Amino acid sequence: MKAIRLEAVLLYDEGTAGELNIEEIAGYLRDKLRRVPVEVRGNPFVFCREKDPDWARKLASIKVQDASRKLVAVQEPLYGEIQYEQRRILGKTRAFGVLYDGFHLLRVFSELIPREERALGFVHVFLTNRLFATWDDGDRRYHARTSVYGPCCVISTTGIVEAPARSREYYVLKRQYEMLGKDLLELKERFKGDFIDYQDARLTEVVKGYVMQAVLYSLTGDPFCDDKGCRLYNAHWQAELIFAQLESGYEFCPRHAGLLQSVNEEIGEEPTCLSTAPMLN
Ligand SMILES: [Zn+2]
Repeated sequence: MKAIRLEAVLLYDEGTAGELNIEEIAGYLRDKLRRVPVEVRGNPFVFCREKDPDWARKLASIKVQDASRKLVAVQEPLYGEIQYEQRRILGKTRAFGVLYDGFHLLRVFSELIPREERALGFVHVFLTNRLFATWDDGDRRYHARTSVYGPCCVISTTGIVEAPARSREYYVLKRQYEMLGKDLLELKERFKGDFIDYQDARLTEVVKGYVMQAVLYSLTGDPFCDDKGCRLYNAHWQAELIFAQLESGYEFCPRHAGLLQSVNEEIGEEPTCLSTAPMLN
């Protein structure tokens, strides 16, 4: 497998609400990619403050109001929605309950990247707690996502909790709890540990695997692996996610372990044109 040479990995904290230890993630990357500089940049809107004052409007205009209606053009937001985004950008409020169109969010974050770093070889990773979704033409509705890989990569802690499905048994019982008006917290307690939850102590470890998917996307154009025990596995169920990221007993399959080893041993090829189609998890 041919891999391009990486210039740097840049980690942005786009409001992960203290759920992640980003320095620990950076340390992990430095360990895995010994030749590649890794930088933690904090809030991207502060880092790029002077470039465009209109980020709040842009973000407010890409919200999904109705999961069964595709966002075809960006919509004109209300004043209050822009104010909310302004506070959110400055870290004065959290982004719960808002759903964004994933591809539009990817584009807004891409615009934040400094011009001189808009090149293959720079891995820009936006860690956020914003929940985003992408439209599916098959069943004609939005589906929540954990991550999207493209000109930059966006990984959502809320998406990790909400997007991969929980067990079928959980959903059956949830319906019963709702019908009987029982406390859903009790249900969560019954399944504790079976899925990643908000403020979950395992989130930082899980996100390390997703950041490696972003790295592999930049290296080869493909962030995923078919091996269910490899951290690059594209998990659709919480049980799969937990197995791939925490329980399989190894981090990477032999093919990807070998690729990472070759990245550390020799300088890869000059960046050439890879497929730039975004990929989703
Ligand atoms: Zn693999």
